[in-house]
Amino acid sequence: MIAVSTIEEYKRLLGNLARPIGLVPTMGYLHEGHLSLVRAARADNQTVVASIFVNPAQFGPEEDFERYPRDMTGDSLLLEREGVDVLFTPGATEMYTPDHNTWVRVGTVTERLEGASRPGHFRGVATVVLKLFNIIRPDTAYFGQKDAQQVLVVKKMVRDLNLGIDIKTMPIIRSAEGLALSSRNKYLSPAEKSSALAIFKSLKLAEKLFKEGTRQSDVIKKQVEHVLTQAGAKIDYISVASPDTLEELETISQGALLSLAVYFGSTRLIDNILLGCAL
Ligand code: AMP
Repeated sequence: MIAVSTIEEYKRLLGNLARPIGLVPTMGYLHEGHLSLVRAARADNQTVVASIFVNPAQFGPEEDFERYPRDMTGDSLLLEREGVDVLFTPGATEMYTPDHNTWVRVGTVTERLEGASRPGHFRGVATVVLKLFNIIRPDTAYFGQKDAQQVLVVKKMVRDLNLGIDIKTMPIIRSAEGLALSSRNKYLSPAEKSSALAIFKSLKLAEKLFKEGTRQSDVIKKQVEHVLTQAGAKIDYISVASPDTLEELETISQGALLSLAVYFGSTRLIDNILLGCAL
């Protein structure tokens, strides 16, 4: 594995990289969720590039940018073991020069859910993803359904701006007990971690209701809320929305994305499940 931290170094390599090139963009502190994307990229491509960049532009001023967990040494070892060819780890000033002043704003789909709770988040995401695409020049990029809205935002940007990059969405990887893997799980105390299993329980209940024929979103959301509040969660949102537009659905006809954001203690966790559809 070749590790590069500047755009210039990567550009020098690029001409010699065999296509197709698969890109796995991450913020590091890697777990099996990230590695599942790397494995998919490895299976599909001649060259696999992984990036690790904790993108300051996607964190709000009150959010956890400074304390976001980092482990470059451990991450490099994991990626090397997975057969990654190139690891791109730019510093903040490499990606954002002091005079950086161009931002990508994807419409409507960024305004709801995570976009509503985290103003500016998707502006930061879309901008950094476009920059990474322009630097790395991948044929395919791999994203996790864990961040379902992010997938929709990236796909919309790719279509609207004719980027010609294939976006692959990979399933959510969970712990044996069902907690969706996340770098932020590190913030949870053992008690919070165990309470947070209610998230998966609530999603499975929603799936069961859906499979039994329930189509009214309110009925499903109430049950999900009940399971979560019983476990001590503070709810940011529970949404049953169109998997294409993220518009809230009163009744599920074609299929829906049930997504939620909740706090256990001071840690904000997101998770989701698809009901009768794919992303
Ligand atoms: P992050 O480092 O949190 O920005 O995540 C990098 C990529 O890994 C994103 O596309 C995430 O959606 C994906 N990812 C994070 N957690 C998981 C998970 N538990 N299962 C599958 N993909 C994940």
